[in-house]
Amino acid sequence: MNYLKKTALWLLDASLPNRCYLCHVPMQDGGGLCALCLSDAQLGQVCLHCHKPLAHAPPHRCGSCLKRQRWRPTISGLNYHHPAGRFVGLGKQRRQPSLYTAALAPLITKLNQLQQQGLLITPDALVAVPIHRTRLRQLGFNHAHIIAKQLGDALGIEVIENLVGKHHCTANQQQLDAKARRRNLKQAFSVTQTGKGQNLALIDDVITTGSTLSELSGELTRNGFRVSQSWTLASALYRTPNQSN
Ligand SMILES: [Zn+2]
Ligand SMILES: [Zn+2]
Repeated sequence: MNYLKKTALWLLDASLPNRCYLCHVPMQDGGGLCALCLSDAQLGQVCLHCHKPLAHAPPHRCGSCLKRQRWRPTISGLNYHHPAGRFVGLGKQRRQPSLYTAALAPLITKLNQLQQQGLLITPDALVAVPIHRTRLRQLGFNHAHIIAKQLGDALGIEVIENLVGKHHCTANQQQLDAKARRRNLKQAFSVTQTGKGQNLALIDDVITTGSTLSELSGELTRNGFRVSQSWTLASALYRTPNQSN
């Protein structure tokens, strides 16, 4: 995005503080996304492992994931390939962590539904995906930690802080394919304490290929924890054929 376009968007947001960021409809309770944009961007019925759309649920997993012996559900609220789903990325781009609050509702609704259906166990605690201190200095906050705190408050679940660190600054994952991402993340995380089998949910803003969550889960498991699931505000895992952008 060029500088002029960025400035124009910023001026528009600043002049319309009580409007939906996407369709600019007036909103009662400050900025964010209106209910219509949020419902339009919801992920819908997808496989709980790979996020491929399902025609019907149950069984909640696609044919190939049903054959897997080991799998871990990742629950996401919004489709990142929808313009409203990309709103989740603005928190980092604009250094505005308050934007995450507007995108929490679809994830919380989905978690409640799956728990009521007996498809998800409630985790003992939440753990945010860590970022390297260099990135933390640039950004001023760890977006995953802010999301984890908000989810923990909303659902009454403890958030374990400082359990994991990222001890080398990995190259920007967005330009890498799945194989290169896994190589890039090898031994990127360190766990500061030994667990006693606590059941954890990992928290991040977006799942892109799943390699970060998978690497972090492996490191926590090796240190005595059990990672039963991951939760992200949005998912970019699967793009349907008509989502060309
Ligand atoms: Zn809207
Ligand atoms: Zn699947």
